[in-house]
Amino acid sequence: MNGHDNGMTAGGNGTAVAMPYAVELSRWSGEFVDPAAEDAFGEHVGDADRRNFVIALFVTGPLYFSFVISDYLLLGFEALFWVNAVLRLLVLVFCWGLGYALLRRPIMPPRLYRLSLLFFFVVLGNALVLYPVSQREFLEIYPGLLVMLVGAFFFVPSRLADRLLATVFALVGLGIETLLFFPPERQQLPLAILFFVVTLVFCVVTSVQHARLRRFSFIDSVHSRHLTTLLQQEVSLRRQLEDAARQQARTDELTGLPNRRRFFELAEREMVRAQRYSSPLAVVMLDLDHFKEINDNYGHAAGDQVLRAVGDCCRDVLRTNDVIGRLGGEEFAILLPATAMDGARLFAERLREAVYECRIGLPGTELRLTATLGVAACAPGEVVTVDELLARADAALYRGKAAGRNRVEGQS
Ligand code: GH3
Ligand code: MG
Ligand code: MG
Repeated sequence: MNGHDNGMTAGGNGTAVAMPYAVELSRWSGEFVDPAAEDAFGEHVGDADRRNFVIALFVTGPLYFSFVISDYLLLGFEALFWVNAVLRLLVLVFCWGLGYALLRRPIMPPRLYRLSLLFFFVVLGNALVLYPVSQREFLEIYPGLLVMLVGAFFFVPSRLADRLLATVFALVGLGIETLLFFPPERQQLPLAILFFVVTLVFCVVTSVQHARLRRFSFIDSVHSRHLTTLLQQEVSLRRQLEDAARQQARTDELTGLPNRRRFFELAEREMVRAQRYSSPLAVVMLDLDHFKEINDNYGHAAGDQVLRAVGDCCRDVLRTNDVIGRLGGEEFAILLPATAMDGARLFAERLREAVYECRIGLPGTELRLTATLGVAACAPGEVVTVDELLARADAALYRGKAAGRNRVEGQS
């Protein structure tokens, strides 16, 4: 038939979107073959169908009742007129009662369609009782039958089978009554049948086409909802991956500290701030002493464990605004905003002691290590780059190593 007649369809980018049910349409009714699909469709159009049904009920009641005027013209105020009037009033009360009930309670298909069937039977049944009571000629009530037929197909939301059932009910009832009470003129009958058949075919073909189109649009809306969900999942997955990748690109995997690139980013930001507010700024470089020996004597994994422990140790000593990074190997740098040389030296001394106090438990032994630290500071308002400041701290560190290690050395 077309792209809608199986359980899958192609998404915009060629992705197949699975539907939770088969979307094959019946060739005859234009409705879904799969009851689950029909139920889902009912859910989708339920509110609109209920609204339309309420309108049909509020219009049908007074319309049907308004024929008391023609009853009066035909019968005057004799007893049969009052029977007619009461019968018409019953339909009016039924239609408005059901209309109000539907306004208050959101009844959805398929229960809504069962109420449609009840509506057909009540109105048509009433009309069948009225027909002989009102003493009209066949041709007088015949146009009313055709109008009801069109109304049943186009204004009352229902399933095709129910509409046909209502049609058969009306037709058989009317046929029997006509034969019993008022046999129509022989010439009228073929024409009446022809008109009825033509109207019925028109109603069925058009309403099947309408049913088909409504379901196509439902399928499309389900597809686009699926695609939107998939797209949202894809976007959030990508965002998570990007966040993870960005985090990874900034973080040193071993210690969890900012890596060299991130340290420079943060340090440059602090440098700009320090220069703008003319505040001091210091940097401390820390290099573990004889670290190579740890690797050589205990293995690379033990060396890694030491680096992690030293990273934790540094983190514990930092203040909130201090910026730390692992620059590479066993070298760490700490940027101290709003800190001058004296404060930075005190901080470096505390850090040196913390590293010394940090005991690293290895199988069968406990390691103690020392670190040498170089400190450099820039005075308030001094224009200097992070690289230059680090180079000064590195030079101080180098002097500290030469002077015997395990010490803090300030820039000269
Ligand atoms: P010094 O006191 O002069 O600083 O001597 P050192 O041995 O600490 O310095 P050196 O630069 O000679 O050695 C640094 C060692 O750090 C060499 C390298 O194998 C090791 N290293 C670098 N990165 C890692 C790492 O991620 N894990 C481990 N386990 N070792 C590393
Ligand atoms: Mg070293
Ligand atoms: Mg080194």
